[in-house]
Amino acid sequence: MTVAVRTVGVRKAFSGHEVLKGIDLEVSYGEVLCILGPSGSGKSTLLRCINHLEMPDSGYAWVDGQIIGYELRGKALHELPVRRLRAQQSQLGMVFQHFNLFAHRTVIGNVIEGPMLVRGQTREAATKRGMELLDMVGMAAKAEAWPSQLSGGQKQRVAIARALAMEPRVMLFDEPTSALDPELVGEVLEVMKRLAAAGTTMIVVTHEIGFAREVADRVVVMIDGEIREAGPAAQVLANPSDPRVRTFLGRVL
Ligand code: ADP
Ligand code: MG
Repeated sequence: MTVAVRTVGVRKAFSGHEVLKGIDLEVSYGEVLCILGPSGSGKSTLLRCINHLEMPDSGYAWVDGQIIGYELRGKALHELPVRRLRAQQSQLGMVFQHFNLFAHRTVIGNVIEGPMLVRGQTREAATKRGMELLDMVGMAAKAEAWPSQLSGGQKQRVAIARALAMEPRVMLFDEPTSALDPELVGEVLEVMKRLAAAGTTMIVVTHEIGFAREVADRVVVMIDGEIREAGPAAQVLANPSDPRVRTFLGRVL
């Protein structure tokens, strides 16, 4: 299997507090990895290192895309020119806890902005693809609506379509349902399940254990900046060997 994302010994400290203590991670194309762990354990920081929104203090995080992979291998992040970082970031689609839609753009406007500005697509081409994606997330009927007219679940589904419109090779999700009212969580997880079933490579930080159990190929549990447990979802969730992981899962199950 081809490696999509790899981190090797990623360390990160904020004002002397070590938030990531050497994270080794590998995700293959077509795989869904769920990252679980208590609040403050470093999950978001890890995703931000993968997406190069943060620089690791040491170690590597890279996307093994076919264009850039071999050039990046073995290099530290600070050795990489900015255009390489941008190329790497463009392989990744990111969906955050808060939807970050452009308030001054309609739903379809949100989806086509990146493809037009960054990818140089025509409005027609971007709109055609954008409507397909909105259809996929069940939001085609709201294409001309404004973000303020949408529920949280609808906004998040548009955010997913917007990320997909850039044709990333890997989708990163950082607690995409944590800010939603409980009754809206299901519709977003449903879209994510559909993506997974279609073979999308996904790294999902989530507290939704049911989703992890059903959808994840592998689960890792982070505690205090370390991966304390990693393996197939069924094994990690049903029978974790690390006592702290057992305690954490006992609280969320
Ligand atoms: P999680 O996503 O697992 O809740 P985070 O990665 O957000 O954890 O945060 C891990 C720790 O790092 C927390 O203690 C948080 O306060 C700290 N932290 C995260 N980002 C920053 C930052 N930019 N500056 C200072 N501290 C940060
Ligand atoms: Mg977080």
